Amino acid sequence: MKPDDFPTDIQPYIVPEPKGELFYKCLGCSAEFSINKPLYVCPDCEQILLIHDRYAESLKKIPGKTWQKIFDFRKVLKAPAFKGIYRYHEFIGSCIPESSIVYLGEGNTPVIEANERLQEKLNIRFFYKNDGQNPSGSFKDRGMASALSNVKYLLDQNWISDVIAVCASTGDTSAAAALYASYLQPHVKSAVLLPHNKVTPQQLSQPLGSGAQVFEIPGVFDDCMKIVEDLSEKYSVVLLNSKNPWRILGQESYAYEIAQDFDYHMDDKVIVVPIGNAGNISAIMNGFLKFFEVGIIKSLPKIIGIQSEHADPVFRYYQGKDENRKFKPVKVKPSVAQAAMIGNPVSMPRVIYLTKKYNEAAGTERVFFMQVTEQSIMEWYLEANRNGHITCTQGGEGLAGLAQAVKEKIVKANETAIVDATAHALKFSNFQNLYFEQKLPKEFSIKHNLDFINLPSLVMPDNGMPVPSQENRLKQNEFKVFVADISQKIAKKLNLKGIL
Ligand SMILES: *Cc1c(COP(=O)(O)O)cnc(C)c1O
Ligand SMILES: [Zn+2]
Repeated sequence: MKPDDFPTDIQPYIVPEPKGELFYKCLGCSAEFSINKPLYVCPDCEQILLIHDRYAESLKKIPGKTWQKIFDFRKVLKAPAFKGIYRYHEFIGSCIPESSIVYLGEGNTPVIEANERLQEKLNIRFFYKNDGQNPSGSFKDRGMASALSNVKYLLDQNWISDVIAVCASTGDTSAAAALYASYLQPHVKSAVLLPHNKVTPQQLSQPLGSGAQVFEIPGVFDDCMKIVEDLSEKYSVVLLNSKNPWRILGQESYAYEIAQDFDYHMDDKVIVVPIGNAGNISAIMNGFLKFFEVGIIKSLPKIIGIQSEHADPVFRYYQGKDENRKFKPVKVKPSVAQAAMIGNPVSMPRVIYLTKKYNEAAGTERVFFMQVTEQSIMEWYLEANRNGHITCTQGGEGLAGLAQAVKEKIVKANETAIVDATAHALKFSNFQNLYFEQKLPKEFSIKHNLDFINLPSLVMPDNGMPVPSQENRLKQNEFKVFVADISQKIAKKLNLKGIL
């Protein structure tokens, strides 16, 4: 529909205008800074930042019901810039004009209800939200669309020029960063740092394909992150890790979409999300809080953050009593949820700040943290994909967490869960292959359960019979014999009944 076709009460709002007055605010000392140049930590106290909008208060002047209609109608607006995360422009980056928005098809991902069989296994109604269906195959595209729209905005204003964008990554951040940066060629070039041998071959191929400079570094993600931080302190680069608060802002769209997907009824909803660097869970909490404060949703959904036993610093932090909580990084062990294998999450201060704020706003404990075994991550990942899903191992981690939350009664039978399938199955298929070939190294602490193993079987004719190849085509008669023989062998394996 064109703007004129919308109902008259919606028309003034249907195409968002750049309005907001955004600023960085330090999580440590509350100092405020202009967004006219990139900033990642407070120059005064070195704490990380969140983005706020002076315009936010005035959003409350529009009734929640009207906002709901605006977003619902925007779904059918024919303007690419507002098809993705910027459908929620007023909440995502309200100062960014349409001309600076970089849209590569991110956001607006499907929610898929689990089949009956899988819901019975978990004993709960649940959906996967397939964030693996984003352009680079993970939710990171949401944050990257925001971060690179901001970069384009700064370029368009002539506040910066010729950007070198850098990030450290467990794989998906670099894939997303390189993709979005490559779209802004030649003004933006990207360089990504990856822990050597700690990303999947698909994840490595992505930034290479996008033309980024790829550096492999010995060690784990946490080590790469330190190098990137050092670079961003000493040189003029744009940091694209989730330390960059624009990433958090963009990823808030995940919460807004869930609110809209479920007609803004959040009281019986449970959001399940794997935690690595803790950017995503921070964004999800902040997103729901913003919608709640403006009255677009009437209650805050329960949020459960999941970590593997091999990388669980956030879970450990919340094990302690309030008074004597002290954050301690952990030494990570190999995890099949490799994209979440982080011992010292950059967004920990955001998690602490937002969890408190969220629970206070809800008036009760609504944010929970759970730890799951590697075995359960692997098995729920395989189980999900055997039932019509396309989830990565981190999505398996989420499902393992949901199964455990149901058992521990953190989730009740009358609630509905939405599990984040954070990346596409294809990105992590090497873990599936290792499992099927029973070759997962010991350090993963995973036993190979034969029920799940699925391998191809090569069907060959009996000895001596000719087989076709690309070079050697069979004679008509030989080929007929070959087809009949192979067909019969497959029918036998499948227990097929004859038609006659
Ligand atoms: C980055 C990532 C995570 C972890 O998200 P954080 O924001 O770092 O907590 C989980 N799953 C996938 C597929 C990821 O790429
Ligand atoms: Zn500060």
